[in-house]
Amino acid sequence: MSNWVRVFRTLRGIFMRMTLSAVLLLALVSTSSQSMAGDRYSDVVQQMHDLQNRYPKFTSIYSIGTNDEGKDILAMRISTTPNQLDPRKIGQIIVATHHGNEGGAVTFSVYFTEQLLKRYASGELYRGNLGQMEWTIIPVLNISGYNADEREEHGIDPNRDYPGVCIAKHGGSLKSIRLLMDLLKTRTFVGSVTVHGYEGSLTYPWGVDADNTHTQDHDIFDSITAKAAALNSYRYGTSTDIVYPADGAYEDFVYWKYGIWSLLLELRDGSASDVQNTTKAIASYFDSLNASPSVKNQFTAHCNNALNFALRAE
Ligand SMILES: [Zn+2]
Repeated sequence: MSNWVRVFRTLRGIFMRMTLSAVLLLALVSTSSQSMAGDRYSDVVQQMHDLQNRYPKFTSIYSIGTNDEGKDILAMRISTTPNQLDPRKIGQIIVATHHGNEGGAVTFSVYFTEQLLKRYASGELYRGNLGQMEWTIIPVLNISGYNADEREEHGIDPNRDYPGVCIAKHGGSLKSIRLLMDLLKTRTFVGSVTVHGYEGSLTYPWGVDADNTHTQDHDIFDSITAKAAALNSYRYGTSTDIVYPADGAYEDFVYWKYGIWSLLLELRDGSASDVQNTTKAIASYFDSLNASPSVKNQFTAHCNNALNFALRAE
């Protein structure tokens, strides 16, 4: 055997061993990420319980009901009397993860909750109006989508499953959405933020394809959102103008139905600095709100197209 043949065979042996190790490594990574994927919601629940253990005076965790798979959708109530709903307090709500593949929404909602609880545990509770507020935070609405890292829940886009101003439908084909719509009836909510990714924007109604995208509250929305966006350098404006029109979405529904001051947060990338800056922006948004919902929330524009579902996938 010539030296060249020996060299060739040695190299081939090394190459085959490397390929085998690479395949084994890939298999290992994909197996572990699959098993982790199945447990992703459990990790979130654990983080919620950790926060409750750290701040028991201000938190309670409860189920808003079981989804189509029979899994409890958990919410955290934060207030000075967390074990009971107090309709006299100013209701605020954060709903994250309509879309299961936007994991930054979970990171944001857990981090925002932690920062909020730090404020509750500080002297700010007695200086500002935090003590008069009651928060409802749902870090994951679409549990099966989050576990599978998929946008939809059972093949349905949850954020097109609400009644909409330009489409005639009842909404709520998913149980998760029916449960959230029921929760919205349990008390008055003043402010709402729904968390998505990844546009880097703060937007407000209307988010549909209409001849006028401005609500009758446009100037108020514009000024409080501008103030918030100054803290994280996001774009801001109506959802139609900044993101894209989509009917049957939560952010329009809660304003249209209840006058809730509603913001659609599209995180930029969900990185640590993005989440930190955006937490400040969203705290500013809630702090700027009036103590009551809008009464000028009627839709008075004309829809351009009855079938204006968004084709893009943010
Ligand atoms: Zn989304």
